Amino acid sequence: PPIIVSDLAERMGLKSFQLLADLIKLQVFVAPHQAIEPEIAVQICEQHGFTFEREQRVKGGGVHKQEEVVAEPEAPDEEPEDELKLRPPIITIMGHVDHGKTTLLDRIRDSRITAGEAGGITQHVGAYKVEHEGKPVTFIDTPGHAIFSAMRARGADITDIVVLVVAANDGLMPQTLEAIEHAKHSGKTIIVAINKCDLESANTMHVKTQLAEQGLQTTDFGGDTECLEISALKGDGVDDLLELLALQAEVLELKANPKGNARASIIEARFQQGRGAVASVIVESGTLKVGKPFICGPFAGKVKALINDRGESVKSATPGTPVEVIGFEELPRVGDALVEMDSDRAAKKLAEERQGELRSERLKIPQKSRMEDLIAHARDGNSKAQLKIILKTDVQGSVEAIRNAVNDIESDKVDVVFLGAAAGPISESDIQMASSSDAVVIGFNVKVEAKAAKLSKSEGVQIKLYSVVYELIDQVREAMLGLLEPES
Ligand code: GDP
Repeated sequence: PPIIVSDLAERMGLKSFQLLADLIKLQVFVAPHQAIEPEIAVQICEQHGFTFEREQRVKGGGVHKQEEVVAEPEAPDEEPEDELKLRPPIITIMGHVDHGKTTLLDRIRDSRITAGEAGGITQHVGAYKVEHEGKPVTFIDTPGHAIFSAMRARGADITDIVVLVVAANDGLMPQTLEAIEHAKHSGKTIIVAINKCDLESANTMHVKTQLAEQGLQTTDFGGDTECLEISALKGDGVDDLLELLALQAEVLELKANPKGNARASIIEARFQQGRGAVASVIVESGTLKVGKPFICGPFAGKVKALINDRGESVKSATPGTPVEVIGFEELPRVGDALVEMDSDRAAKKLAEERQGELRSERLKIPQKSRMEDLIAHARDGNSKAQLKIILKTDVQGSVEAIRNAVNDIESDKVDVVFLGAAAGPISESDIQMASSSDAVVIGFNVKVEAKAAKLSKSEGVQIKLYSVVYELIDQVREAMLGLLEPES
């Protein structure tokens, strides 16, 4: 744990400012809530006639006990080759607004009803599986980037292939470029569906030229990007798209071991009356079964029921299959991993450990710089308070959009000041700037560099990460309107 100046002062029966004066002499410029290096602490302690010793951290309130180690069953690095079975590819459809993503998802979903499969889909589980000539394909049933980004931010990147929908009459638009950037960045296979080819104004040549400019040379241009011309509205070419996707499981050698402890990724979660927290998941490996205990984030649970994308209650779900899971203690987060445990006891124990870790993480962060506290703090004076923000986003385009949206929030108590706003990951210098000026760092679809994360903890700088714009705006607004109670 970091050595915080004020803590150290307290233990020596001194005031923080006395230590700060000593620190300045050592050329160390910090605030009372900030941390100092152990070597510096040693010197300071010596000056005051103390010896500096680090406490041994003992779990469980200082009582030594032989701890039983409980760990989440790890996915083995290498599964025995003969246990591996092909699994369906998992597809996310992306593209610019109005280019036909929803129409395409609906069309594909409907195709299996016309294909004579029993029953339509009555259950929304966030994803659905269709079969093309016996080969299954799983589609994430949310167009756009929000879920993709949310999952990626949590390191739960389950998409195998991005189907990029481009309207033939419109060409590449800002969100198309954003999608290409996302997909490339995370190393996804991109398959392009040029949509609305039924329109007179369709210009597929133009689209392909534009794609080539983005480094996506289509196969008929001598490149290796698969590209299909379709009409989601009329259904033309949709079968070809399905066939291409169905074959990709083999091409990309998408395999998983259906044996062993199940692992799944949360793609949606909600509270449902009478059922409690329910979540939709896609199974990644193993077979998820009713009755099995699991861990998901910091909570234990037990699979009480599984419901497939047709609303049928099922006993198990194999890799690549979307299902709704009932049996969570608390609402999990999108991107969390659900991992089957060998016993209820092991699941509960691991959950306790994780909750304990979370608590101590929270305790370590000096609370002074939380967004709402900063405002409350600044408001102690009579003048209008300032909320200082350093904004980092994934792409330049969203910098201005978010900045404008936040500036539009009207508050008679608080002024927003952007100390910085740029595209790129949250870096150490962002944290330093935030720390020296009591600002919060807000990230939109960005990563936090490891060093920055570490520094933010020792400096007590709050980093707020968002992947959905309106959530970001809402929280800033609530903080500004004083709706969020300052935590003491
Ligand atoms: P999304 O915003 O990308 O999900 O786009 P939508 O699926 O909502 O489609 C936007 C509009 O384009 C709707 O009015 C659709 O009917 C229309 N549309 C979608 N696909 C096609 C197509 O293949 N041809 C034509 N002519 N219109 C389409």
